[in-house]
Amino acid sequence: MNRSKSEALFEKAKNYFPGGVNSPVRAFRSVGGTPLFIKKGKGAYLEDADGNSFIDYCCSWGPLILGHANNDVVDAVKTAVENGSSFGAPTELENDLADLILSNNAYIEKIRFVSSGTEAVMSAIRLARGVTGRSKILKFEGCYHGHVDSLLVKAGSGLVTFGNTSSAGVPEAFVNETIVVSLNNQAAVEDAFRQFAGEIACIIIEPIPANNGLLLQDKSFLEFLRDIATQNGALLIFDEVISGFRVKFDGAAGYYNIRPDIITYGKIIGGGLPVGAYGASKEIMSNISPEGNVYQAGTLSGNPVAMSAGIAQLQNCLRPGFYEALEAMTNRLVSGIRKHAEEKNYAVKLWSVGSIYWIAFTQRERIATAEEIDAASMQIFRKMYHELLERGIYLGPSGYEVGFVSAAHTEADIDRTIQAFCEALDIALA
Ligand SMILES: *Cc1c(COP(=O)(O)O)cnc(C)c1O
Repeated sequence: MNRSKSEALFEKAKNYFPGGVNSPVRAFRSVGGTPLFIKKGKGAYLEDADGNSFIDYCCSWGPLILGHANNDVVDAVKTAVENGSSFGAPTELENDLADLILSNNAYIEKIRFVSSGTEAVMSAIRLARGVTGRSKILKFEGCYHGHVDSLLVKAGSGLVTFGNTSSAGVPEAFVNETIVVSLNNQAAVEDAFRQFAGEIACIIIEPIPANNGLLLQDKSFLEFLRDIATQNGALLIFDEVISGFRVKFDGAAGYYNIRPDIITYGKIIGGGLPVGAYGASKEIMSNISPEGNVYQAGTLSGNPVAMSAGIAQLQNCLRPGFYEALEAMTNRLVSGIRKHAEEKNYAVKLWSVGSIYWIAFTQRERIATAEEIDAASMQIFRKMYHELLERGIYLGPSGYEVGFVSAAHTEADIDRTIQAFCEALDIALA
């Protein structure tokens, strides 16, 4: 496979951007080699600068649930942009997207649009602090919530600790407001509430943690979080930037039927354009400016082009059978690979929920916490990754990343992918 154009473009990009990229994981550091520079995408397929074609399971890290350049989304964007791309004044399209969401989601009553998942989470945390008048937040090791200062914190050594920052430039004072505990561990959360009674503004969790492997939680753990937050006057935030509109239209809240106090969205909500959102009850949302005293604003928030893309995408998601079809396609992929792995007795496991899947090189029957992931096994992923690329299959370039199936993937695409996985596994595990 010729990748000379991507290689040349990457060399050039290194002169312009730190590490040659505008978001770190794109640099291929974890799998090695040169990132593909993408020329275009259509449906389930990507084409790189050298003209190579790939079936894509990264899907821009989740937003593209309809695949690339979906006709409805493209048409909506064209129409919108011809009428002007931003006004900094309200438009009917904001009402339309909000109505589409709120009338199909029983877990929130009001919403505010922002321009990224990070912004949504940052705003939700401020809202929780504003409502409770408390400053500490509790997060889980293995959940990613964007590059918000107070959330770039990883677990320290003890059971309940303040974390250590996972980025330079995050002040110690911020780290001291963030408590980090293990996923799926009720005792650790109870401990945190004992130790910091009356100080915790919110618990934030990805209810379907999908940024560090797919760490599926017990439903009872999520219910426990709901209860302990309520008992302690803290708010529960579900960060559904991945799971929202992905596992169901009403996300993980709907999937588990658990009502958090605030939900954040991103990725799918914008149809491939930059949109994030946070929503809650009318009462909680009434604290947001200009109704309340928690300030939050955005020059390009709710701009008509992004709103139109979101509307076109979410209308497709609301079609009867949409999520069932996606899940069936994902099950086909996962069971095809699993069958081969079992026949060959490979220490390979696959997990999935809706159209999210994850492959791990492990003997464990279950991985529910970050600590259970074997870092050394990522060497095998790395080998498999490049074998898959050679066979025209594109995944997110890290073994910690989940894969996404889109509505554009056909049975033929899935079957070709299974074949490629079987061959790649045979080589990577030889
Ligand atoms: C992607 C992601 C974010 C950050 O969203 P950006 O749009 O990249 O800022 C936050 N939380 C979760 C769960 C995510 O998956």
